[in-house]
Amino acid sequence: MLFGYPIEATSENWLHECLEEILKFIHNNLTNSKISTGWAEAIAEPYRGLLQRRLNITDKSKITDKSKRERLTLGDKLLNYQRSLQNLTDIQREQILKAFSDQNNIASLLCGNSTCETLKDLPEDIRQPIKVLFESAFEILTPLGVRDRHYKKIYDESLDRICPFCGSEYFDAPSAPREALDHYLSKESYPFAAANLHNLVPMGNKCNSRYKLTQDILRNDDGVCRKSFNPYNHQKITISLDRSEPFAGIIGNTGEHLPEWEIDFIPHPQNFENIDIWEEKVTTWDEVFYIKERYKRDILDQGFSKWLTGFRSWCRHPRTNTPHSEQEWIEAIQNYTNYNEEMGLEDRAFLKAAVFRMLCLHYKNGNQRVIQFIKDVVNDVSI
Ligand SMILES: [Zn+2]
Repeated sequence: MLFGYPIEATSENWLHECLEEILKFIHNNLTNSKISTGWAEAIAEPYRGLLQRRLNITDKSKITDKSKRERLTLGDKLLNYQRSLQNLTDIQREQILKAFSDQNNIASLLCGNSTCETLKDLPEDIRQPIKVLFESAFEILTPLGVRDRHYKKIYDESLDRICPFCGSEYFDAPSAPREALDHYLSKESYPFAAANLHNLVPMGNKCNSRYKLTQDILRNDDGVCRKSFNPYNHQKITISLDRSEPFAGIIGNTGEHLPEWEIDFIPHPQNFENIDIWEEKVTTWDEVFYIKERYKRDILDQGFSKWLTGFRSWCRHPRTNTPHSEQEWIEAIQNYTNYNEEMGLEDRAFLKAAVFRMLCLHYKNGNQRVIQFIKDVVNDVSI
């Protein structure tokens, strides 16, 4: 991903922490042959007060309206979980509590420093109660206001307010209809992390609904473990197109061959991570979000001609002297590159900057076809 989210956005992770306390309370009771539904005892104020009503168990005999009877509380779902646990052995219960802990060791899992069991590794009878319980916990983040405050912190801290997974989808303001909130570790495989803010990331709708979907960020399609970027602990990435080959790609709508794009990801200078590990994470990012494919097909091939038109306007602007000497041409391309670099992610300028950095390189290296092409574009009097 192109940049990370501030860790401060995850500070209100109390619902997940309360669930952890309640689960420990349930497991501890069962170990001591006790059964209790006094789960509120396990959590401190003010959260006890905030959750008290939701922890109540529905007395279905008192509800005559059938549709209301279907609406189970968090307490009802905890009760289902507890009942399913009662039928399991001590060893199986330990396995489940360990899976809860391991699935929420998110930073370590993403670095490949630890592993965890998935839902399908757990005893069959407990899978559905776990899934239902934690999906319900995720859903109540919205009425509790946690989800909106989490998003607002990220939105307010971000300069560009753009999806960091692709760099091209704008995020709407916090009062707009909500952006997707992705379960970075999918809730289908890692349901215990479904309400953990460290696992919840605002994501553009295309990245979320067309590309990532339910892909497992921790394992590839063959089930092999892979490393992934941590959205809450991540340095910026720069794009380089310097290895691209001009006039070697598909034919553009001006009839000219576009460059054959070679996209490289460059770590931030202050990235202290082992470069092999970092590259493994880049590979996962690209595999899950189809980054190179999307950049080539949807942005670079489509934008190249328009971006050259923009450069022509820049060179012809009254405040800019149209370049004449070779040095002036190089300076013009460099200045335009710098201007786009300063724009950052705005309007995909980071990719535009990479295109002109690549063209400048070829210009300086004396690539006559590139030199003539740029001059023709800028000097074309018919436009
Ligand atoms: Zn995106």
